[in-house]
Amino acid sequence: SLTAGIVGLPNVGKSTLFNAITKAGALAANYPFATIDPNVGVVEVPDARLDKLTELVEPKKTVPTAFEFTDIAGIVKGASKGEGLGNKFLSHIREVDAICQVVRCFEDENITHVSGSVNPIDDIEVINLELILADMESVEKRLQRVSKMAKQKDKEALIEEPVLTKIKEALEKEKPARSVDLTDDELKIIKGLHLLTIKPMLYVANVSEDEVADAANNQYVQQVREFANAEGAQVITICAKIEEEISELDDEEKAMFLEELGIEESGLDQLIRASYDLLGLATYFTAGVQEVRAWTFRKGMKAPQCAGIIHSDFERGFIRAETVAYEDLVAAGSMAAAKEAGKVRLEGKDYVVQDGDVMLFRFNV
Ligand code: GDP
Repeated sequence: SLTAGIVGLPNVGKSTLFNAITKAGALAANYPFATIDPNVGVVEVPDARLDKLTELVEPKKTVPTAFEFTDIAGIVKGASKGEGLGNKFLSHIREVDAICQVVRCFEDENITHVSGSVNPIDDIEVINLELILADMESVEKRLQRVSKMAKQKDKEALIEEPVLTKIKEALEKEKPARSVDLTDDELKIIKGLHLLTIKPMLYVANVSEDEVADAANNQYVQQVREFANAEGAQVITICAKIEEEISELDDEEKAMFLEELGIEESGLDQLIRASYDLLGLATYFTAGVQEVRAWTFRKGMKAPQCAGIIHSDFERGFIRAETVAYEDLVAAGSMAAAKEAGKVRLEGKDYVVQDGDVMLFRFNV
């Protein structure tokens, strides 16, 4: 499954946020297939549509879909040169599919800042530069080999060389590989390099308890936003400390607590949804009387592949999928009414599943 890695300098609030994630996940449900890796936290994906479907269908149980975060501690200045176990931590980033960079936007005299004072842009640049330097090493190494092969007119090398050169030029300007315009074919060619800066990134601005309700006016948050906007990246504002506290509350208590603080949605819930989006994930539903359930798929997947997420037999024996859009089902009021209104479609093996589709798969065993 796809996972988002949490990175950041020391003392910015990563562990606090990760604790919130693990506690929220532990409280929510048990995920039998979840890894037992202590660096992986599983959380439920908050989705109001699931509550609505539960109201409508009144199933015996409701199962949300889950999402994984990986804690990647230990990136410091010089990590790409092996500083502070740097290479080991950088290699952990190779295994994640998206990066959430936590940035310290809270002042606290008692908590040391690694470079002496709170300066989110400096912090971001330190981390991003380490990732860029690590990629530079990978690209240069590869380019040396590929150039030799290209001189001998090796067909694949002749295609790969200009792609690597393009990326190298961006990295030299301290720009991430994801800023380079690459076609799907070009992306495929360099996939094996597992570049760090090709992964999508979002920024998590960690603000203090007192400022979270009015974070838009926090100068540090404004700086992070400006920086992220220039890259076309998203910013989520949270107070990791509060997230840790509310991760132990049930839904009702949590809602009350957030209201008192003047926050509409918990930062963690926003982060989960933003990461989900960043990874190109979407949700379809199954809605039977036994169980109403949300399932995660990659945007662009077709009906048989989506059926295969539930069980490989569903994909192998796929015949068709009875499909109704969430909005149509809710507007009709029941599955029977949606059928009567002609809103339930019979979709075949080439149907590209849409976010919010409610599906019933027909298959041969
Ligand atoms: P890490 O090194 O990035 O994992 O940082 P930690 O999560 O260990 O946090 C470092 C220190 O900052 C701890 O003492 C936390 O309690 C504190 N901290 C983390 N988040 C917040 C926050 O939102 N507000 C305040 N005031 N302190 C925080």
